[in-house]
Amino acid sequence: MKPLWIGTYHGRHDGTQATATSTRDGTRPEPYAWTCTCGATQAFLTDYGLDRSAWRHTHPTLWDQLRQKAARLLRTRNTR
Ligand SMILES: [Zn+2]
Repeated sequence: MKPLWIGTYHGRHDGTQATATSTRDGTRPEPYAWTCTCGATQAFLTDYGLDRSAWRHTHPTLWDQLRQKAARLLRTRNTR
């Protein structure tokens, strides 16, 4: 059976264009997975966190910026 396509994530890391594709393959013990053009791959038991993980991998710089922004917001809230 052919793996079922779920999503494609275009991004950039290590100075090069990268594309990750997430799929579902019912024949594997961990059916949900994404594979990047750089060779990296990650498998999951459920689709929980699949999109986030693939997006994070293809957008490391944006992810860092978002994380810092969130940390700043949390700090502001906690000091109030
Ligand atoms: Zn990659």
